[in-house]
Formats: sequence, structure tokens, C-alpha cells
Amino acid sequence: MPVNIAFLGLGAIGTPMARHLAIPDFSLAVWNRTAEKTAAFAAAHPARAATTPADAARGATFVVTCLPTSREVEALLDGPDGLLAGMARGALLIDCTSGDPATSQRIAARCAERGIGFIDAPVSGGVGGAENGKLTIMVGGDAALLERAMPVLKAMGEKIVHCGTVGAGDALKAVNNALLAVHIWSAAEGLLALARAGVKPAVALDVINASSGRSNSSMNLFPERVLTRAFPRTFRLALLDKDVMIAAQVARDEKVPSPLIQLTAELFRAAHGALGEEADHVEAVKYLEQMAGGEIQ
Ligand code: NDP
Repeated sequence: MPVNIAFLGLGAIGTPMARHLAIPDFSLAVWNRTAEKTAAFAAAHPARAATTPADAARGATFVVTCLPTSREVEALLDGPDGLLAGMARGALLIDCTSGDPATSQRIAARCAERGIGFIDAPVSGGVGGAENGKLTIMVGGDAALLERAMPVLKAMGEKIVHCGTVGAGDALKAVNNALLAVHIWSAAEGLLALARAGVKPAVALDVINASSGRSNSSMNLFPERVLTRAFPRTFRLALLDKDVMIAAQVARDEKVPSPLIQLTAELFRAAHGALGEEADHVEAVKYLEQMAGGEIQ
């Protein structure tokens, strides 16, 4: 018998993740705030289009959420159409949002009151990783709940790592993305300075990528997205801004001196403000280019 599962949040990464659950092992219900996306998904895949979060969750053993922030997940819990109205005792909420530890802990406590399990399970690997089922999934929560969730997580990801108690996955994801932000920003500063000094960005990247300054940003993002001026929209700058803010908060909460992460949070907040909600994360480079009066190409 297929296991009943619900997926809520058919965004840029949620949609390809949900596709891996539309398989004979599962009986899938999907829900998205904008109903057209729910209908389009259900028309293209073996899935039921649910009308509310409660409708999606009713009868489900597993409910997977993938929304912008933990705030939106928390807001889906309550009311007659909310998740908690639909989820049964013994069900498990798997939150793949890149969330924040404190809100995840609150959500876990609300779920526990009803006998519902919760794990935070943010992902890395981008839209490409989601499409080919090769995401890394970092999990916070009870090890026994992770064990139960494994068939679901294995359908969407390749590397599944237990990071600690509830919120640990969120914290690790946020720090990873703060490093991504540092790498993007510092590479942009360096390449702009080198261009002024007469070194072409392609030449600079060729050397850096054979040397110790290389990163995923220098090896992939800059050659494929910046030098080409393609800037495809795969992961919104607004979401990276949110992730660096979470990392900055984690560092402050833990009383770790973190001037670089705090500054990076400020820079990405400013870039997000200047470039708007739909800009891609790599477009933060454009914000620095505007300030510098030059382009990396
Ligand atoms: P998108 O902005 O593409 O999609 C967001 C989704 O959340 C949409 O389905 C949207 O619905 C829904 N949503 C937004 N606000 C609400 C709300 N108030 N109530 C209910 N649903 C809402 O985001 P992504 O898919 O890119 O990202 C989702 C999560 O995954 C984020 O936490 C992000 O940080 C993380 N992530 C993203 C990666 C990427 O490469 N894109 C990589 C790794 C992690 P609607 O269609 O109605 O707008």
C-alpha cells in the first residue's frame, strides 16, 4: 500500500522536490498558496490537488513543507484550514524550509502537544540538486523520527545528515549560506579591484580556481552567471538575506564574536533592499558593481 504524504509549497525548489514524491511508494497530495500552481502540478503528476493545508494533511503519515521562512510554516499550523486541524496523532511534519531554530523549536512543541512529530530538514544543492534528487538534507530532531522519515528524505536527497536536536539543521543551513554570501561578496570585491588593476576577470578566475582562494562561487557561480551576465533566477536574494540574518542571530545567541557574518548580513540586507524581491542571490554582485561603477565581465 502506498504511504499517504502531503507536500506544501510548490516554489522554485519545492516543485522539483515534490516531483520525487509522485512515485508509486507514495500517495501524494499537494497544496500551494497560489492555487493555479497546485492544479498545474496535479495535472502533470500523479497527485491530488488539496484545497487547504488541512485537506492536504488529512490522512497523511508524512507532511513536508518548503516555504520561504519558518514564519510562514508557523502561520499554516492554526485555524480550521490549518495543518494541525488535518494532521493525525503519530504523523510526522518534515519542514524542508531553510528556517530559524527558535521558530522550529516552537513549532516542534506545538506539534508535540498533539502527538505529532517534527524535524527540521533544510536542503542544499539548489534547484539542480532538487531536480536530480541529489540534495543534501540536514536534519534536526529526534533520531528515531529521522529514521522514520528516511524513505521520504531518500526520495529527494542523496546525503542525509543528522545534525542534532530540533533547530540544528536550520542553524547549519544558515551558516552554510552565510559562507556562500561571504564568498560571493568577497569574490566580487576582488575581481572588481583586479579589473581596475588591469587583470581580466576570466584570467583572474582561471588562476584563483587553480589556487587556494577558490570556492563554489569562483568555480561555478562567477564563470556561469556573472561573466556571462546570465544571472539566472534560481534562488532569490531575499532568501539568502534571510539565511545570513539567521546565521548572524545564531552567532549572537551563542555569544560568538562574528564581525564578518554580521557585516555580511548588513550588506545582503542592503543589496536585497536595492534589488527587490525577485532578484537572484548572485545579483548581489550587481549591487557592488553599481557602487564601484564597473562590471565583472
Ligand atoms: P520560492 O520563493 O520560489 O517559493 C516559495 C513558496 O512558498 C511558494 O510556493 C509560495 O507560494 C509559498 N509561500 C510564500 N509565502 C507563503 C505564505 N505566506 N503562506 C503559504 N505559502 C507561502 O522559494 P524557494 O522554493 O526557492 O525556497 C523555499 C525554501 O527553500 C526557502 O526556505 C529557501 O531558503 C530554501 N532553499 C531554496 C533553494 C533554491 O535554490 N531555490 C536552495 C536551498 C534552500 P506562492 O506560489 O503562492 O507564492
